[in-house]
Amino acid sequence: MNRQDKLSEHFTVAELIRSETAERKGIDNMPPDILLPKLKRLCVEILEPIRLHFGRPFRPNSGYRGIDLNREVGGSRTSQHCKAEALDIEISGISNYDLAVWIKTNLKFDQVILECYRLGEPNSGWVHVSLKDPGQENRAMVLTYSHRTYSEGLLA
Ligand SMILES: [Zn+2]
Repeated sequence: MNRQDKLSEHFTVAELIRSETAERKGIDNMPPDILLPKLKRLCVEILEPIRLHFGRPFRPNSGYRGIDLNREVGGSRTSQHCKAEALDIEISGISNYDLAVWIKTNLKFDQVILECYRLGEPNSGWVHVSLKDPGQENRAMVLTYSHRTYSEGLLA
């Protein structure tokens, strides 16, 4: 796998693994080749439909995180980011609440979490979305994460 490899029409490996923390700390965040189909799946089933619908280019804030990077950013030990099953997304000019609602309504997913969103500030926070492998059950869980607490549903 190379950074420049295309995973789908609009997304490359580099965009799915980029991390300011990894760059700053000199962490190699290149995934093992075995995760390539999973990265592609995130692009084809989540990122491309979002790009098509909202009609503007964006790069995920966070996609794959190797163990070292995940530890550095304080991610959960069981984070789906480490399995190439999760993305954190925000799109310039689009409310993160609206983005979460659209994903919930239109895409297949394991979890959608509206994270750190504040009412009246459309650009606050981000949307975490995850998707499991074919054959594994996707739980279709919809949550809001705020003040270190998870609540059911999308709360604005
Ligand atoms: Zn996330």
